[in-house]
Amino acid sequence: MISVELALTHLFDLAPRMGTECVPLDQANGRILARDVSAQRDQPPFAASAMDGYAVQSADIRAGQPLTVIGESAAGHRYHGVVQSGQAVRIFTGAPVPEGADFVVIQEDVTRDGDVIILGDAIGSAANIRAQGADFNASLVVTAPRRLGPKDLALLAAMNVDVVEVAKKPTVALISTGDELVYPGQSPNADQIIASNPFGLAAMVADIGGTARILPIAADRMDALMTAFDLAAGADVIVTIGGASVGDHDLVAKALQHYGATQSFYKVAMRPGKPLMAGAMGAAAMVGLPGNPVSSMVCGKIFLEPMLRYMMGFDAGPLPRNMAPLAQDVPQNGPREHYMRASLDNGKINLADRQDSALLSVLGTANALVVRPPHAPALRAGDLVEYIAF
Ligand code: AMP
Ligand code: MG
Repeated sequence: MISVELALTHLFDLAPRMGTECVPLDQANGRILARDVSAQRDQPPFAASAMDGYAVQSADIRAGQPLTVIGESAAGHRYHGVVQSGQAVRIFTGAPVPEGADFVVIQEDVTRDGDVIILGDAIGSAANIRAQGADFNASLVVTAPRRLGPKDLALLAAMNVDVVEVAKKPTVALISTGDELVYPGQSPNADQIIASNPFGLAAMVADIGGTARILPIAADRMDALMTAFDLAAGADVIVTIGGASVGDHDLVAKALQHYGATQSFYKVAMRPGKPLMAGAMGAAAMVGLPGNPVSSMVCGKIFLEPMLRYMMGFDAGPLPRNMAPLAQDVPQNGPREHYMRASLDNGKINLADRQDSALLSVLGTANALVVRPPHAPALRAGDLVEYIAF
């Protein structure tokens, strides 16, 4: 049995690194940026009016001052002349501020009669001008690696970037094993259960930035497993679920041998998830997850997520951890690192009453995994614990 930390190190060694590809911005959401991107221009590219009003010289501002309106600057259509003392240019939000003007009087603060405006007596001190480059200038760089989300895409578009270089999406084949399993929506017989794990894991893979392929369920027979492995060909990561303990029906290890796969480790000192295994199958990494639903989701989080992120250009390392105080006492931990289902509510960690690794309903209400190191001492309510957001 090896530590979680060592298992992760092995997984990083097994993980193939994805190449990169260029995609248009409208297809880049959720992708991992692979190359730094520089802004192509300042934003705004010119001093722009922040309001509808009149561009004037600030030295002219006093209550009752008449100014002659000499033209108009609209968004997309600047005024080409120069504003002199005694003059004003009608201006709209987003329009370039004309040369000579350094202040925009909002339209509510003037009265207009033909080509003349009279300034009111309550003009504030704000110039209502967005300076050139006030948002960013052409030196702005968005650095890789970075998972691109809606806010990044808005920024990149404003930077006049239309195509980005991103990591290719890793493909993850998900193989469920077990005579007892049927997919949701079918008619299970009295002895069967629903194969839930691949759906949670596939969603996890998609959220990380990969593509999951949910393969047909493999029965507990060598030929069925081999068919499943054949179907997994071409995947960057092949994940089996279940069939990895030492029961008579646990054939995954045997089938792997048949394919000449090399085993990197088997069994990790953690709870839930002890019967985790990993190896190499050709260029693909092979990860054998435990079948118990919570174990497979926790192992997916703890191992698959950092591994896939590494494959797409992030540093090799475990998921980030935070600290929060416990809401209740917790007993001493045993010899395996324990990932306890918990909820972080109002800054306090509440551990779930039932920690059985088959309880998806408990996992469903959790938003954190509290990490209890091997042999960690008992803690009291209020003591700080480490947790991983989940
Ligand atoms: P195993 O490792 O095959 O002995 O499976 C351990 C437990 O997890 C058993 O109760 C299985 O029925 C259950 N299990 C295995 N695979 C899945 C799956 N894909 N979805 C839900 N439960 C599973
Ligand atoms: Mg099984």
